[in-house]
Amino acid sequence: VLSCLSVLVIWGCTGTTAQSNNEDKLKIQEIISQMTLEEKAGQMTQVTLEVVSKGKDPFNIIQPLELDEAKLRNIIVEHKVGSILNCGGFAHTPQKWQDLISLMQEVATKETRLGIPILYGIDAIHGANYTDGATLFPQQIGLAATWNRELVEAGAKATAYETRASSIPWTFSPVLGLGKDPRWPRIWETFGEDPYLISEMGVAMINGFEGDNTADKFRVASCLKHYIGYSTPLSGKDRTPAWIPERQLLEYYVPSFEASIKAGAKTIMINSGEVNGVPVHGSYKLLTELLRDKLGFEGVAVTDWADIDYLHTRHRTADSQKEAVRQAIMAGVDMAMVPYNVEFTKHLIELVKEGAIPESRLDISVERILKLKMDLDLFEHPVMSFEDYPDFASTKHQQLALDAALESITLLKNNKDILPITKDKKVLITGPNANSMRSLNGGWSYNWQGSVTNDAIEAENTIKEAIENTLGKANTIFVPTITYNEKDVYSAENKSSFKKAVNAAKSVDYILLCLGENSYTEKPGDLESLVISENQIELAKEMAKTGKPIILILNEGRPRIIREIEEVSEAVLHAYLPGNKGGEAISQVLFGDYNPNGKLPYTYPRFENDIVPYYHKYTEQLPPSDGSVYQKSLFYPQWEFGFGLSYTTFEYTDLKVDKTELTSSETVKVEVTVRNTGKRDGKEVIQLYSSDLYASITPEVKRLRDFKKIEIKAGESQKVSFELPMNKLAFTGRKLNKQLEAGEFILSIGSEKVSINLKDSKTDI
Ligand code: BGC
Repeated sequence: VLSCLSVLVIWGCTGTTAQSNNEDKLKIQEIISQMTLEEKAGQMTQVTLEVVSKGKDPFNIIQPLELDEAKLRNIIVEHKVGSILNCGGFAHTPQKWQDLISLMQEVATKETRLGIPILYGIDAIHGANYTDGATLFPQQIGLAATWNRELVEAGAKATAYETRASSIPWTFSPVLGLGKDPRWPRIWETFGEDPYLISEMGVAMINGFEGDNTADKFRVASCLKHYIGYSTPLSGKDRTPAWIPERQLLEYYVPSFEASIKAGAKTIMINSGEVNGVPVHGSYKLLTELLRDKLGFEGVAVTDWADIDYLHTRHRTADSQKEAVRQAIMAGVDMAMVPYNVEFTKHLIELVKEGAIPESRLDISVERILKLKMDLDLFEHPVMSFEDYPDFASTKHQQLALDAALESITLLKNNKDILPITKDKKVLITGPNANSMRSLNGGWSYNWQGSVTNDAIEAENTIKEAIENTLGKANTIFVPTITYNEKDVYSAENKSSFKKAVNAAKSVDYILLCLGENSYTEKPGDLESLVISENQIELAKEMAKTGKPIILILNEGRPRIIREIEEVSEAVLHAYLPGNKGGEAISQVLFGDYNPNGKLPYTYPRFENDIVPYYHKYTEQLPPSDGSVYQKSLFYPQWEFGFGLSYTTFEYTDLKVDKTELTSSETVKVEVTVRNTGKRDGKEVIQLYSSDLYASITPEVKRLRDFKKIEIKAGESQKVSFELPMNKLAFTGRKLNKQLEAGEFILSIGSEKVSINLKDSKTDI
């Protein structure tokens, strides 16, 4: 029996951070060789904080939880559990987190035989969103709309810092799912619909979270979610079956995970749902053959919430909970999140004893988990000291959050340059999202599930407050016409005061109509209709009758159908879920202190039955020349992917390539001149697309291949160039391999196009 002391000596005398990988591996094997079966099963178990907390109602998650030391000891010492996660909905101060984690680590490192520290994980999704006072950034969909890799990386770095300042070393972020179906309630947690944009943003975020070295006390381990195919259930409802042809899976869903795995991501979370009739938690093909053998992932694969149980109770591929455990472990799961009342460990131990799972299979997972704990330096520093984090919620971090909110806001319509509004004008502010921090932040925020608030939230400005600060109260009228109902947050609005708003509109120059959605995620966000709620449409129509120009501010987590509201609006600003700085950012854009430059990370649909990503395979036909009728079979979104206006205008000319005849191993240099033809300095996202004219798989209309965000002064021009390796034009072919086919490709930037010719074909790229 190895005493706790002797393990500490092993760690202590050699240190952890300076070890080479080989030495680390040896040390881990040394520990594993000392571990009992029970200890191994325990390391593979992750329970929720509720389980070790006081309180009669552990699921009343609005109430901050207090640790119950007896329960904690029982879980860590008796059940040998190795990981704990938050259960959401409440926040603690950083000092309080430090105390909680300290207590857990004391028990784990001093009272257990091997002294292995606890791995604590949390959903730090848009900032350290369960720590009071932390900086809250825009949600991922807004970050994608910035098209700014450096900004996204810097934001993730600040989030890592503030999460570690709370003594938490692991975040369940980012989401890398393909966000192409807005019916799904978690679209706002994705980077939108394009595989390349998702990959680039994902890698930026991993770099921000992990840096080069997660032992660094300012970094955390990331977790790629939710592997794979979670984002496009057939029904559009959360955690319902997806059917994804393998070719599509490889072409559109895999690249983002592949890129982030290459970038070094340490952990991955498994899709709660099923793909093609097989729950992903029980799929050897997806969890081992694709994830490990093909994509080369070496980190920890954790289940999503209670999902091993669900193999038995929801998916019904396992006729007992024990069989569910067997299926999941043999498929490739390393850690079980929330296996209620630790039945998981009991079953796992029995299965090994019965010979249904080889113990060596557990060793593989335990090795990955211990390596993660070592990579995070938890053996040496299981708790952080908050005093070492002076930049927690610093002005620097707050500025980053504001910059991200500003760069995300996407101007979609601006009739006759009605925006920006000069500051001498009088405005009416109304609509359910006008005065709500909760709707600005969306889900996974310290105040998203109801009445919880804190000083940090109170200190921030809603849209209404920010506008009042800018124009002065004398020039603003606020009519809280409709509010979200706390219980039924999605659609129930009371319209008793529509008339008040209509009356108030008479005395103003502009109506600022703040519409959208309230916070939600997962199943509570399932929709019966993508059309925005009837009351909001009615409110917009009533306001339109006043004849005063309507500026529509959309604060929503997914592109709700707003066709009828758009028709009566002179301008549309899409703010997504911009976070704590959203009110301030919207106000700066409305009144011209900031020139908007966000671009849509998804196709904004016009009709409910027309949800199609930009890389569709419709035959491209020209609209009728008289412009009067559009054909129902044509791609006809409200706004296209990549679209977004500015207060200045940009002109693209002279698109050139350095050669037009290329082989598959060559790189083409593409160059375009961009001129700011307006009167304001502005930022612009230069987007490079390619179209394959003929291919053995029907080619898409176009695909994004690269982008750059640049700033150009009014009247000036810049040459922007891209290096595009021909390999990037490969597609997943009929035999499911990556291939390039000789022939003509069109490269385009803006409305400029140039043709190149690939001389040879190549397979297995
Ligand atoms: C969600 C995950 C999240 C986990 C832990 C699940 O319900 O699907 O995205 O990380 O809970 O809170």
